[in-house]
Amino acid sequence: MADQKIDVLISEVGPRDGLQSIDTILPLALKKAWISAEAAAGVREIEVGSFVPASLLPQLADTAEVVKHAKTIPGLTVAVLVPNLRGAEAAIAAGADKITLPVSASETHSLRNVRRTHDQMIAEARAISTLIASLPPGRRPHFEGSLSTAFGCTIEGAIPDAVLQDLAARLVEAGCAEVGLSDTSGYANPTQVRRLIRLVRGVVGDDRLTGLHLHNTRGLGLANALAGLEEGITTLDASLGGLGGCPFAPGASGNIVTEDLAFMLESMGLRTGIDLDALLSVRRQLAQWLPNEPVYGFTSEAGLPLGYVGPPQIVRFADALGG
Ligand code: ZN
Repeated sequence: MADQKIDVLISEVGPRDGLQSIDTILPLALKKAWISAEAAAGVREIEVGSFVPASLLPQLADTAEVVKHAKTIPGLTVAVLVPNLRGAEAAIAAGADKITLPVSASETHSLRNVRRTHDQMIAEARAISTLIASLPPGRRPHFEGSLSTAFGCTIEGAIPDAVLQDLAARLVEAGCAEVGLSDTSGYANPTQVRRLIRLVRGVVGDDRLTGLHLHNTRGLGLANALAGLEEGITTLDASLGGLGGCPFAPGASGNIVTEDLAFMLESMGLRTGIDLDALLSVRRQLAQWLPNEPVYGFTSEAGLPLGYVGPPQIVRFADALGG
């Protein structure tokens, strides 16, 4: 299945972003079962955890073991988040395929969250890319710098364009293969998504901005995802069952819901490689494993439309977008 061509890569972030936002600690065996089942449903990239001190996020304390398990699944890209060089060292030791360093576009947010200035975060990115470059070619993980709070910050408000341009350029100069945009606060709208993708690509080049991490805080998650697709974005982060919710907006999912995103894409004729029935059954399992945590989304409640068949193989990405 992993050899089949896809048009859009859905990167599942629930085991990291979802689990870090809830109080329940999912046991290691169930994390493994979740990741295996979702990969079997056709999901090709999963962010399985974060290498942060266990004292800060006990929910993710077993990330190294989760990575080792996920690495046994053929065709799966195993992604992790790291806050600094030390996290990257642990991620590389565990064998992660993709490492993402979040860098908050809001310096106040960065100082409050990780107690680092922009200069310090760029230095961290440089140290990580130097470490990666020292590895044998076959063992070098893909390294992305993700601009969190890119669409606005709950402390600073709007982020000036010049700050985003400067940070994106410096991350690439420091050795990031790619820069991502992340709507941490759920402030984004489709027009802004289009504008900021063009703004950052104008600095780093089209091939260095291919992914978005969007939230559904104000109900615009899928609209923003579509705006990104129309700009040529090919990787979209999402969380199964919208796990984790949104701390600012009770009743709203935090991340966009994987199964709703997969339904939107597949029903538009965009291939994700995902078997929707299988994915919905993983969601039901996840809800059973976390009985005290709310899950979100619409497709699971409504079911697939009568006569739904998924994307015909002959529909090409450009045709589907009408371009
Ligand atoms: Zn998120």
